Amino acid sequence: MSGDALLSLSDVSKHYRVRLPGARRASGELRAVDGVSLEIQPSETFALVGESGSGKSTLGRVALRLTDPTAGTVRFEGRDMTSLHGAALRAVRPRMQAVFQDPLGSLNPRMTAGAIVAEPLSAIRGLRGSELDDRVDELFRAVGLDPSRRAARPRALSGGQRQRVSIARAIALEPRLVLADEAVSALDVSVQAQIANLFAELRERMGLAYLFIAHGLPIVRHVSQRVGVMYLGRIVETGDVDEVFEDPRHPYTRALIAASPVPDPRVARERVVLGGEPPSPLAPPSGCRFRTRCPIATDVCAHEAPPVVRLSPTRSVECHHAA
Ligand code: ADP
Ligand code: MG
Repeated sequence: MSGDALLSLSDVSKHYRVRLPGARRASGELRAVDGVSLEIQPSETFALVGESGSGKSTLGRVALRLTDPTAGTVRFEGRDMTSLHGAALRAVRPRMQAVFQDPLGSLNPRMTAGAIVAEPLSAIRGLRGSELDDRVDELFRAVGLDPSRRAARPRALSGGQRQRVSIARAIALEPRLVLADEAVSALDVSVQAQIANLFAELRERMGLAYLFIAHGLPIVRHVSQRVGVMYLGRIVETGDVDEVFEDPRHPYTRALIAASPVPDPRVARERVVLGGEPPSPLAPPSGCRFRTRCPIATDVCAHEAPPVVRLSPTRSVECHHAA
């Protein structure tokens, strides 16, 4: 399977040296991502879910080599990304693109929407004149924007339209992988569904794969095939999205599902209360890092790191009590 994977992370960590409160020098090690392996196949959407601070964005940035991992390897299209530099890295970059939460923050406010989408095409592909114009129109239509909106500046567009411009720019160079980091989270619920549908449509049309980071579980279930549940820098449960959401095995996954708003509030549901805040990634608990909030923790959880229990070739869970 790994031979064909588009993206393959193996035992990836990203630790930051940080200043502890009151300390004069950088003296703590913050384990933002701590030993994560995952694979994304071509045309597949892999979602990352988990509370804020669990390491999802850091993992996304490492996956696209926007930052270097502290340890582990990142392979994209079979090549070790961490060994690529200069021209070789620039040649790969167009094939991995990102869309972030706040398009106002990432779109140049002085440029028109058309110029924003045209920029990578002229800078990297060298397109000019009518060839460039036609391609920009085509991209606007591909993301559901009328080409007459080309003259608008980001501020004159709605949130959903701005996100469509970001997506048009991201797909301009025909990437194979798109990181969507909370790309729908700031939008109204109805617009979230439209943008999620656009992602799904582009996946089918262009064979795109996504690393899709979101905190709304219904949207994750709607757009992705597989999911990884992150807690304090680790993926504690992973599998096909329907399996994980219908039969969650990790107590943290159960708590996340229980805490997620249901479309129909009359539907009764088992409440699993996730108390308090996650511990600091500067000092994760010994043994299992979820044990301090876990309703089924026992002695062993404090003393031994949980095993990775493989429930099927695509399904695993990191818990002493999963079997
Ligand atoms: P998420 O996207 O799941 O909310 P992040 O990946 O943004 O989580 O952050 C994971 C942890 O890493 C957090 O504790 C965060 O404060 C820390 N972190 C992220 N980026 C940095 C950085 N550049 N320097 C130090 N700590 C960081
Ligand atoms: Mg984040």
